[in-house]
Amino acid sequence: MFLKKKLAEKIASEGPLSISKFMEICLWDSDEGYYSKKQIIGKKGDFITSPELSQTFGELIGAWSLSYHLNKFKDKKLTLLELGPGKGTLMSDALRAISKIKKSKIETEAYLLEKSSVLKSIQQKKLLGFNVKWINNIKKMPAKPLVIIANEFFDALPINQYVKVGSGWRERKIAIKNNKFYITLDKKISRFKTNYFNNTPIGGVIEYSFESMKILSIICEHVKNFGSIALIIDYGETFGFGDTLQAVRSHAPEFILDNPGESDLSSHINFSILAKVALERDLFVSPIIEQFKFLKNLGIENRLEQLIKLNTERKIDSEINGIKKLIDPKSMGTLFKVFAIFDSKGSNIEGFT
Ligand code: SAH
Repeated sequence: MFLKKKLAEKIASEGPLSISKFMEICLWDSDEGYYSKKQIIGKKGDFITSPELSQTFGELIGAWSLSYHLNKFKDKKLTLLELGPGKGTLMSDALRAISKIKKSKIETEAYLLEKSSVLKSIQQKKLLGFNVKWINNIKKMPAKPLVIIANEFFDALPINQYVKVGSGWRERKIAIKNNKFYITLDKKISRFKTNYFNNTPIGGVIEYSFESMKILSIICEHVKNFGSIALIIDYGETFGFGDTLQAVRSHAPEFILDNPGESDLSSHINFSILAKVALERDLFVSPIIEQFKFLKNLGIENRLEQLIKLNTERKIDSEINGIKKLIDPKSMGTLFKVFAIFDSKGSNIEGFT
């Protein structure tokens, strides 16, 4: 396979690869990168996400965005920005829900940050008829107040892994021997420095994403300058160190080094670091709460009850089962966390209390 050969040659000429470089090549190689595959999200793909399980997810987030906008701003236009919109389902459900809340008389426009051309064309079809624009760089987000939404975006960004040693960190890297990739510890002490993991014990592994930090900093600047809010929903923990990098193909986990370019690579989000970055910039943060709490606070259980009643007339089993999965406390309901960054104290942020 071409991508394996490309990685092997790179390691042969440059030495072991950092995990972020490996992820970037596996996910984004222009010929064989994972995100150029045709079917990645959904039942027939490799993994399923909340908006794909139930339209209620996007609808509730749409209503949440509208309510934040109405509380905070006087102007008639609500501008949404979604980071990594996948198949465009969340945005389409959100915009449809907002348009149905007629009494608000609010116009909407949406910006989508998407790097995959395959997914962008799926989004274009799904969002036909809505006022939507695409951007390919976070720095190009419009200079105005935004409601920013990121569902399973940060977990898709490349990370590095470091192991705590007496005087600092040594990086975990990817090497090759007898045509097989393996993880090795860099011989030298890394130049990497951080204040975010001061309590890591010797031998502890931490994960750090330079790309996440860059994007998050730009978002925080924007929230500060334009009075915006960012809602981040992702697979992750409130605290945490350890190796969480995972590969998933056809809804089953596999070893991260086995099938470069063919499986999705992602890691768990360490939400406390996102919060620290925002607090360092004098922004305000919500508590980090489990997805089922957030969705219950937004009224998902009422919706479920209505749908169960309606189910005797019209078969809507898949929607009902989808909602149940989203709030299942043994699975997505607790594995996923919800967190918001905003600019002013006392803003009435729905869903968190
Ligand atoms: N939010 C969607 C999709 C999650 S998959 C859902 O919930 O269904 C991750 C998404 O982020 C994909 O759309 C992927 O193409 C996009 N993505 C990953 N890295 C990106 C980057 N650096 N810039 C822009 N989009 C990115």
